[in-house]
Amino acid sequence: MRRLVIATRNRGKLEEIRQILSDLNISVESLSDYPGIEEIEETGETFRENALEKAITVAKHTEQVVLADDSGLVVDALGGAPGVMSARYAGTGASDSDRYRKLLAAMESVPDDQRTARFMCVVAIATPEGRTWTVEGSVEGAITREPRGKGGFGYDPVFLVPELGLTFAEIDAKTKNHMSHRARALAKSVPMVEEALSI
Ligand code: IMP
Repeated sequence: MRRLVIATRNRGKLEEIRQILSDLNISVESLSDYPGIEEIEETGETFRENALEKAITVAKHTEQVVLADDSGLVVDALGGAPGVMSARYAGTGASDSDRYRKLLAAMESVPDDQRTARFMCVVAIATPEGRTWTVEGSVEGAITREPRGKGGFGYDPVFLVPELGLTFAEIDAKTKNHMSHRARALAKSVPMVEEALSI
């Protein structure tokens, strides 16, 4: 059976990706199956650069076809911040709530009609021979004034989906995983995975 390595140690992400690729007859592994590979620093200036860097590095080490992703929250009123810095927006050791509270503080004087934002995700695929593919997914929303909801993770409590009138932390996991930036990028990546594995 063809093998695809997902460049993550995050179980939630791995399960989501497994589910989306479940129609392909492939064996899906993760970095947990390759303990020798060290943490890869995200030093790029774009989601695309970071996702590609991860996919290429892991493909070299494992000699397998690799899928990697990079994601974050892009806020228009903040010139695209936190963007690729989403995970590190409030420094090391900070919690999810430290990060979204910092974001709410930075947005305090921004009027309601200028609070637009989007979650973005780039999925990159790399072969050990050095062929690469990238694809992007996004979901549009707006930043609330207060956190709302208990579900999800990261910036979910402050990300409002206007059509639903709910934050990502207020909608059930199944709905979020269906409409998320990651789900959209992953769905688009299926034909590229097939091509990379020549199936
Ligand atoms: P990474 O792609 O795993 O590096 O995630 C980057 C960061 O973006 C995460 O640590 C979160 O802060 C944020 N992020 C990415 N996707 C989501 C999401 O679906 N909900 C909330 N925050 C997210």
